[in-house]
Amino acid sequence: MAHRVHNFGAGPAALPLPVLEQVRDELIDFRGAGLSILEASHRGAQYSAVHRETTEALAELLGLGTGPDASHAIVYMGGGARTQFGLVPMNLLTPGRQAAYVVTGRWAEMAAAEAAKRGDARVVWSSAESGFDHVPAVDQVGCDPGAAYLHYTSNNTVVGTQLRETPECGAVPLVCDMSSDLLSRPLDLDRFGLVYAGAQKNLGPAGVTVVIVRKDLLETAPGDLPDTLTYGKMAAKDSLLNTPPVFAIYLVGLVARWLLDRGGLAAAAERSEAKALLLYRAIDDSGGFYRGHARASSRSWMNVTFRLPDERLEARFVEEAAAADLVGLKGHRSVGGIRASIYNAVDLGSVERLVQFMMEFRARHG
Ligand code: PMP
Repeated sequence: MAHRVHNFGAGPAALPLPVLEQVRDELIDFRGAGLSILEASHRGAQYSAVHRETTEALAELLGLGTGPDASHAIVYMGGGARTQFGLVPMNLLTPGRQAAYVVTGRWAEMAAAEAAKRGDARVVWSSAESGFDHVPAVDQVGCDPGAAYLHYTSNNTVVGTQLRETPECGAVPLVCDMSSDLLSRPLDLDRFGLVYAGAQKNLGPAGVTVVIVRKDLLETAPGDLPDTLTYGKMAAKDSLLNTPPVFAIYLVGLVARWLLDRGGLAAAAERSEAKALLLYRAIDDSGGFYRGHARASSRSWMNVTFRLPDERLEARFVEEAAAADLVGLKGHRSVGGIRASIYNAVDLGSVERLVQFMMEFRARHG
């Protein structure tokens, strides 16, 4: 058996072992084709099937059709989620309109800054002053009824907060950066104009960004944008306007199929909640030795952030954890402390090992 650690990295992050094994098994001779999927034409039979299977699996998970009647189009793009920070306003911020931004973390802040380069981007809610330790209640997001869209981040990877309910903003399209929680819980796509996620946390490897766009929003982009940066043009060609990131899309499809086989998104949410509650209980029952960064009501089920009494102990924690095969726990440099990312592919057994380690560490150093 290969040596595998318990990987709590924030992204690129753990992938399901059965998916990695399938990739290994079909890498050299892809399903009898005598070549690898890495070497196959993106317009050939092998990749065409992979592309279709990925979209079908994602659509099935999201309760979305794939035919002409589907409400939203699934588009695959490059450039990571960060490129979407720019592409969203380039495509959707029509002249004379403003965009509304809910700023709950550093990624949301960057998204708002990119939009401000393009036009009138207004911050309607921010928790910057309290170190982004909380998200708004859904009825407090500061809806601007005249906005071209309202952008928010559903899961704040760095600070470990999450807005699991969907804000209400009338007819204003909701645009959501779901980079770190897409496919971790059911999603009512009818409520969203556009959702995007870099794949490298819950969906697959780095290299592809999944963008889900309501079809009426495919028409709003100005004509002078490059075609490959225009949602409508990419959707019209099923993301095959140019060579797509074939290997990443293939893996996203396998991960989506793995999720379907394990009960879809409702079951994924149950597993996520159970894992998160275990860790938060370990924090709350530690007599103050571990202190959660996020306010309790805003706690993320994906990234659990906490501090220890001092930085020396935090460094020790990361070091001793790694020696016990618990890796990727160092918090983001802007927050410090510890961050345990518990995406779909991190199983309950790994979280139980971490909780056990936390208790032992506290007994040794508390
Ligand atoms: N948004 C969120 C919520 C993220 O967590 C990240 C990456 N950690 C990004 C955007 C940026 O993603 P990428 O590196 O794919 O551009």
